[in-house]
Amino acid sequence: MIRRWFNKVLGKTSTATGPVIYPVAQHGIQRNRIHPCALKTTRTLADAGYAAFVVGGAVRDLLLGREPKDFDIATDATPEEVRALFRRSRLIGRRFRIVHVYCGQDTIEVTTFRAQNIQGENEDDDDRVTAEDGMLLRDNVFGGQEDDAARRDFTVNALYYDTENEEVWDYHGGVGDARKRRLKMIGDPATRFREDPVRMLRAARFAAKLDFHIDPATRAPIAELAHMLERIPSARLFDEMMKLLMSGHAERGVRQLRAEGLHHGVLPMLDRILDDTPRQRFLHAALHDTDERIRNGQSAAPAFMLACLLWFDMQAAWAKLQESGQTQQTALFDAMDDTLERQRTALAFPRRMDGMIKEIWALQPRFEQRNGSRPFRLLDHPRFRAGFDFLLLRARSGDAPDELVDWWQRFQDAPDDARAEMLVESNGPSGKKRRPRRRRSRSDAGPAGENADTPASQ
Ligand code: ATP
Ligand code: MG
Repeated sequence: MIRRWFNKVLGKTSTATGPVIYPVAQHGIQRNRIHPCALKTTRTLADAGYAAFVVGGAVRDLLLGREPKDFDIATDATPEEVRALFRRSRLIGRRFRIVHVYCGQDTIEVTTFRAQNIQGENEDDDDRVTAEDGMLLRDNVFGGQEDDAARRDFTVNALYYDTENEEVWDYHGGVGDARKRRLKMIGDPATRFREDPVRMLRAARFAAKLDFHIDPATRAPIAELAHMLERIPSARLFDEMMKLLMSGHAERGVRQLRAEGLHHGVLPMLDRILDDTPRQRFLHAALHDTDERIRNGQSAAPAFMLACLLWFDMQAAWAKLQESGQTQQTALFDAMDDTLERQRTALAFPRRMDGMIKEIWALQPRFEQRNGSRPFRLLDHPRFRAGFDFLLLRARSGDAPDELVDWWQRFQDAPDDARAEMLVESNGPSGKKRRPRRRRSRSDAGPAGENADTPASQ
């Protein structure tokens, strides 16, 4: 079987040097760590006479003893051939077509071996195009397995696991690099970063996630090429940033971004945050908490993270507008809009996130109001939890008084009748002005003026 695959592969590549093949005794990956759906998919493809390997992140993570996020499969079958083999499958993608094979709740991504465009070669070939600055515009040319390995980014991302023979096929020294915890670009790093500048962000993300060092030759061109990220469509940059921030390794990832000078076009506020100790404390508390939540399998809202990253810019804008004579409320709403718009000039994130970000921010001054019915209304606010978590982070970094957090903690824990006693009255005896607590629905806006402190944003 292996010889047949080999011939197939060699037959398709002209400069084949062949992979180093590691048996199980050397790579140590147990087949039972592979998702049953991925095993079933490779088996079906192999039975039909195609080459099929688990590839990319899953092999890398298993080699490092980590739990893979998902399982991707690479094959020499064309997307149509794959599609024909699996009843529950779908062709997706426009730039390169891949097949999603469905198996219960899970999806396995099956990609046909593709070749990497080489700048200067085949320029008249419509399927191999680079822009003048070397940026890869298309790479949807099918190729052999060796071509497929060469078009991948880092050596540890170009490992193929043969599920039938339990072997790892390594074309670029990825197994050795994994052992050395080294992130190394395949080919000439500057050329590969120019082809796809997002690979620079990926380098920062993988170094943080895997706790690898970036190989010096891979790292060297990044500072000079970082500006090329400007050319990347916002949606792709945003997706990549979210992967970094929501990876469970955001604390390290953000530091790595700044260390490589990659933050300018995506998270420019890092300059303002990471050079100032109290702000740094806040950001690290926020990133650390989110990382913990994600690693413990709890949910974490990207909007919360963005609210944290932009908080100090928003506060500064808010203070400035108040100094210029605006009321606290008007200044707050203007500052929130200004801050979000300014961030959009660097990295645009979807407007659907604005609502939650603004609500979290707008709740902050409301925590200071502990008289009358206000704390009760705040407690019923749909974003109370997120707002309070944000306040906790602020208190931990000295941006809000501990006493305020303690009060709110006690207020939440107290039985209904005891809460009235806790109110801090600015006029009149404690508790007198309290209205009975009730759930407010969105349509239950109350009489005009009553909700003057409720953020208008949704
Ligand atoms: P993760 O665990 O974060 O998903 P991953 O390595 O699986 O990591 P993906 O973005 O899912 O990363 O991509 C799958 C594989 O596709 C990578 O391992 C790599 O081989 C290849 N790849 C993805 N993006 C690029 C790119 N921009 N340039 C070259 N190869 C890429
Ligand atoms: Mg992946």
